[in-house]
Amino acid sequence: MKTTIVSPKIYTYGSLVLGGVLRDRGHSVSITRDLRSRGEVTLLSLFSTSQLLDPEIREFAKGSSRIYVGGPVGLVPEIVLGELDVDGVVMGEGEEVAPDLVERGACAEIPGVAFRRGEVVVKTEPVPIADLDHAMPLIPQDLRSQNVRGANVYIETHRGCLGGCTFCQVPRFFGRSIRSRSLENILAEVREMKRRGVSRVAVSGGTGSLFGYGGTVNKEAFIDLLEALAEILGPKNLSVPDMRVDFVDEEILEAVRRCTVGWVFFGIESGSEGILKAMKKGTTPEKNMEAVKLARRCGVKVGGSFIVGYPGETEEDYQATLDFMEEAMLDDVFASVAEPIPGTPLARDALDLPRGDNLLYREEVGDYRALKLSVAEARCFNLLLHGMSCRPVPRIVDDRAYSAFLEEARVQGRDVRRVMELIEKYREYIV
Ligand code: SF4
Repeated sequence: MKTTIVSPKIYTYGSLVLGGVLRDRGHSVSITRDLRSRGEVTLLSLFSTSQLLDPEIREFAKGSSRIYVGGPVGLVPEIVLGELDVDGVVMGEGEEVAPDLVERGACAEIPGVAFRRGEVVVKTEPVPIADLDHAMPLIPQDLRSQNVRGANVYIETHRGCLGGCTFCQVPRFFGRSIRSRSLENILAEVREMKRRGVSRVAVSGGTGSLFGYGGTVNKEAFIDLLEALAEILGPKNLSVPDMRVDFVDEEILEAVRRCTVGWVFFGIESGSEGILKAMKKGTTPEKNMEAVKLARRCGVKVGGSFIVGYPGETEEDYQATLDFMEEAMLDDVFASVAEPIPGTPLARDALDLPRGDNLLYREEVGDYRALKLSVAEARCFNLLLHGMSCRPVPRIVDDRAYSAFLEEARVQGRDVRRVMELIEKYREYIV
């Protein structure tokens, strides 16, 4: 049976892995980013809630014969089945489920799937995969030309996160214990990717340095991993961007400087202690600042990501974030409007918030009044501007950058309002 894996816009790592699993089970399988390709069976890989509302994806689902959806959107399968005309949803990890789904169709005997039976949604409990060492991924010809934040591909070295941040789907989807792949399995994959023309690889996952975690951070395992990957790819082609501030120290940061492009991105989120507590981030502004300074002392450049418009964020909380940025002088800044991703505690909190208190819907009446933004959008826009002037070497904001930041804030505000409307529609499934 001809199976096509469709991963719209970018090849997700999960889609490549599923392709490899199916190929090794003897299936005729291809992988594409093109929404015009379909197989006798189609597996659609979706990584964001907004994709459920994308008109092209909705049309694509309608026109496909047998089609199943996988990816983090499977956390609340009722939304996927309600929005897309598909035959089933993979609710958790897909490697062991996908072959059965292709061979037998969605049924109650396969763990971790959801499907409709008449008016009822049937769900079977997902079973986490014990051994993450997997088949060689299916590597498409054009993976080498893909560019996701500077890398051709993000690979996975482990799953799970010890953190419990309210806005994040990682611990809900992969669990809060850490499962790591073996070094050999990872290196074989990267060698093969390189042989197929992939040159720039990033390590994904909530916190790179949790690779090999076994009750404590296994620094040796992480440093061995970086050294071995750098030997294959060269340090200029390797990045391990995502790090938690409480899982880095001098030795880890020194290895990042020596073996990679020399950047880390900390999820700083806010300069307000109260908001960090509400997010269950498990850090404080002081700890965040210490980590930024330590990284800089180790010669590592530091980017920071921030979330604005979190439920309860006051003007003072937001000012604390701007103050943090001024002191930290980050080399790069990402700003996001808080997104209530279905399946996360933030989605429940956002639903409980009266609309008048939700900064996504409250009109900005301060300095940016003329731009007709919501408070959340105005904070996002302002934070991006602020990020330019608070760098070690401040950047000038020209007209182009100003317009790009304004557009970014507007698009984020619009997309998050759409997600908000979606969770309101499926309120009963948001726990
Ligand atoms: S935001 Fe990062 S640290 Fe927090 S739960 Fe998600 S992956 Fe873990």
